[in-house]
Amino acid sequence: MIHVENLSFSYRRKEPVLQNISFSVSQGEIFGILGPSGAGKSTLMKILIGLLPDYKGKAMVMNQNCNRLKGDFFSRVGVDFEVPALFERFTARENLQFFASLHRRPCFKVDDLLTQLGLMQAEKQKVSTFSKGMKTRLSFARAVINNPDLIFLDEPTDGLDPTSAASMKGIIKGLRQQGKTIILTTHNMQDATDLCDRVAFLSSGQIAALNTPRSLIMAQGAANITYTFVDNGVEQTRTTPLNRLSEDDVLSFLVKSNRITSIHSDEPNLANVFTEVTGGRLE
Ligand code: ADP
Repeated sequence: MIHVENLSFSYRRKEPVLQNISFSVSQGEIFGILGPSGAGKSTLMKILIGLLPDYKGKAMVMNQNCNRLKGDFFSRVGVDFEVPALFERFTARENLQFFASLHRRPCFKVDDLLTQLGLMQAEKQKVSTFSKGMKTRLSFARAVINNPDLIFLDEPTDGLDPTSAASMKGIIKGLRQQGKTIILTTHNMQDATDLCDRVAFLSSGQIAALNTPRSLIMAQGAANITYTFVDNGVEQTRTTPLNRLSEDDVLSFLVKSNRITSIHSDEPNLANVFTEVTGGRLE
């Protein structure tokens, strides 16, 4: 679906923003591009949708070169980033009806999208009265109205309350089940872990790591178990690697004598892995 090889890009003779990036994305994959602000995520997405044709190297999407995109490319793609692409004076329904009318291929039903995104009750409300979260949901609906094969999303759960975020993630997973390919950026490591089949860590314009979230986390080392117990009236805390629990004689003794007062595991998360791999933070 996407094939990028030795891709480099600079804005007008400035320092390179992307340097020798290579990766491929298969059909039906959710691929996450993770990195702090300024890492080059938007630049990469813009190249892939043909907005920045002056790149070096190879960038191909749906078998077309990204500097010469043509034909039905744009009817097969959904894009939800940067552009404030909603008409504020139109209602939610009018916005979706308008964008559906621009496409020749069969679109999703406006009613279905409004319902799935929890906007049916606000269908007759002008977008200017919408909260940030409602606009995020409507903007997502606009991006996918044309039932695209490939979808680009920038921070799809940003500004959503936990319930809406969970439902948005469910919708994105549902689109993958229909065989859609989804490229998304996020700062939210939990979302990346929940949603993405693979993630690329982008740091200073280079891919610092690329793998499944699980593999990246596992490669970081074993999770630890931390437990507490009371000894001579004083609470004690001990930590032991999850994969060496059977070697911890103190733990065995405490378990047998029912003296553990608390126990929890602290598995490394994707944010820790990002910091470890790139030396930087995501925020
Ligand atoms: P991200 O999406 O990861 O925050 P961007 O791709 O927006 O990163 O930006 C990467 C770098 O390119 C930043 O240093 C940014 O200042 C620079 N940049 C982005 N857009 C432009 C532009 N139109 N002209 C010049 N520099 C730009």
